[in-house]
Amino acid sequence: MNTVFGNLDHVLLMAPGPSPVAPNVLKALSMPTLGHLDPHCIAVMDAVQEQLRAVCKTRNAVTFPLSGTGSAGMEACFVNLVEPGDHVLIVSNGVFCARMVEVASRLGAVADTVDCPWGRAVDAQAVKEALGRKHYKLLAVVHAETSTGINNPVAELGALVKDSDTLFLVDSVAGLGGVDVRVDEWGIDAFYSGSQKCLSAPPGLAPASFSDAAMESMAKRKTKVPNWYLDVTLIRKYWEGSPRVYHHTGPSNMYYALHQAMDNLLTEGLESSFARHEAMHRRLAQGLEGLGFTPYVKGPGAAPQINLFLPPSGVDANTLRAELRSKHRIEVAGGLGELAGKVIRVGVMGEGAREEPIDRLIAAVEDCIRK
Ligand code: PLP
Repeated sequence: MNTVFGNLDHVLLMAPGPSPVAPNVLKALSMPTLGHLDPHCIAVMDAVQEQLRAVCKTRNAVTFPLSGTGSAGMEACFVNLVEPGDHVLIVSNGVFCARMVEVASRLGAVADTVDCPWGRAVDAQAVKEALGRKHYKLLAVVHAETSTGINNPVAELGALVKDSDTLFLVDSVAGLGGVDVRVDEWGIDAFYSGSQKCLSAPPGLAPASFSDAAMESMAKRKTKVPNWYLDVTLIRKYWEGSPRVYHHTGPSNMYYALHQAMDNLLTEGLESSFARHEAMHRRLAQGLEGLGFTPYVKGPGAAPQINLFLPPSGVDANTLRAELRSKHRIEVAGGLGELAGKVIRVGVMGEGAREEPIDRLIAAVEDCIRK
């Protein structure tokens, strides 16, 4: 009688994360909790690793979800691969790239950036030039910049460091499952995502993958990984081998949820999922442009799964968001950083990338702005 659940609304989640969670994923989440070393839990963990390799298009042995949200994935990649004094190059065209700079600097790394304008894909030539000026331990990029609605050209950037000893780190928190990701083909050494975006599971896991080169780099560290909880070499012993070695209490219910969510995705087929995201992105753009909204990103790099719109004149982005939430129970996001108050950000992600939620959102926007 003391909970506040009665006040919780059923909200249609159309921000760029978290995205709507399918009923069978919620059902999986509510299955009985198992001990983190229970054989059945380990069987689920093994299946999750296999699915994740398929979704990431990788054969990397070290491929598993870290316990924590996407930010835990970011921290884990940097904290395991960077030591004080290392030089890293971060491609920057949005809020999440800037966060990478903060994370790397806190570890004592020298973090240089290639700054590219917001709302445009990064310029691979500028990155090539920066790589030519200095040797870097690591090149890092955000694949899907959730703050600006850009998918950066990861394959092209990967090619720049493929035959070098510079490691390639990629954040695809907002891309994996909704747009193509090819960890092996693109030469990615350290990769992380989030469970709550195009994978359509609840927030709480950060799928990650590390190449052999990344693992070798960790083995050769001069200093201990300064964060015990995110030490991938230790966590690996919990995810493989027999017997499994206790590291932390694995969130078994979240493993079930991710297992079911990835089963949904792989049953549909990755390519079909990408095509669906693209088609629903066009449907949304057509609907909102018809109401006078202008897409923030024009041209190459527009991310189908992250859509930013400038409202028509006379419509305030934050007032519209508030009304969508209060009157229509639909969540869309506001602008981040320099775009605060100027745009709405709409996710076309996972279960949200379907006709019914897109049409419901367009109709609700129309209702709000007609008045
Ligand atoms: N990286 C990107 C590109 C993101 O969009 C986000 C979250 O929106 C993060 C990292 C951080 O993930 P989380 O909020 O799950 O910790």
